[in-house]
Amino acid sequence: MKPRVAIMDFSCCEGCQLQIVNLEEELLDLVGAVDLVVWREAMSEEKQWYDIAIVEGSVTRPDDELHLEIIRSRAKILIALGACATIGGINKLKNNFDLADVKKCVYGKDADMPHLDTAMTKAVDEVVKVDYKVHGCPMHRPEFTYLMRCLLLGKKPEIPEYPVCVECKAKGNPCLWDYGQVCLGPIIRAGCGARCPSASFRCFGCRGYVDDPNVDAAKDVIQKYNLTVQDLKSKMVLFGSKQRPTNG
Ligand code: SF4
Ligand code: SF4
Ligand code: SF4
Repeated sequence: MKPRVAIMDFSCCEGCQLQIVNLEEELLDLVGAVDLVVWREAMSEEKQWYDIAIVEGSVTRPDDELHLEIIRSRAKILIALGACATIGGINKLKNNFDLADVKKCVYGKDADMPHLDTAMTKAVDEVVKVDYKVHGCPMHRPEFTYLMRCLLLGKKPEIPEYPVCVECKAKGNPCLWDYGQVCLGPIIRAGCGARCPSASFRCFGCRGYVDDPNVDAAKDVIQKYNLTVQDLKSKMVLFGSKQRPTNG
């Protein structure tokens, strides 16, 4: 029997689901290998029981937590898809502000309407157990297909536990710190093929912190370039707001 797969979303731009659509021919292979039972973006009918739940987006409303717990109770495997789901993503910027101010800023005079309730943003694994994560904003397509292949073949996927710098150096890229850019590569999880530094743009941290980041080495780099920890922190706001290190 093919595994039943559900693709669902919480607060996000749905760009990671779009990356699934963009798999093109590979998408046809995937659709042929599984039984898709929920995917709001691509089909209208849905079934409520599935083996694999692929969850995009972060939890930003009180009701979301209950919905996510129901999904978890139905799925044998839960995959967090993309930075919004794996680390809270840019939605966590909200956590830097007073929630009442945020609501007023977004909804103006309607801010107190009950259906516009809001809460501190959480990554999926801050609410339920997550089995696998596909990191990045947007998620890295080859990593997603690799994970799905592993699950379908019953193999354990290898998710990088080293920083972006490793992939960047392996590609022979010049280090952007030498060109005045505060690149987060030393503390961010690899797996994207050092996508941004390879295009001469600093890593801004969309894959979240590597497990056990080498903080001392990062401090040495900061000192070498006459910067402060505060300078580095200011570059981590986009994807590092109130983020705790995540595993996996
Ligand atoms: S991780 Fe990025 S691309 Fe994916 S849903 Fe969130 S904001 Fe969109
Ligand atoms: S450019 Fe960034 S990722 Fe590449 S080696 Fe330098 S710090 Fe590391
Ligand atoms: S280089 Fe950094 S910001 Fe760019 S895709 Fe990789 S982890 Fe994300």
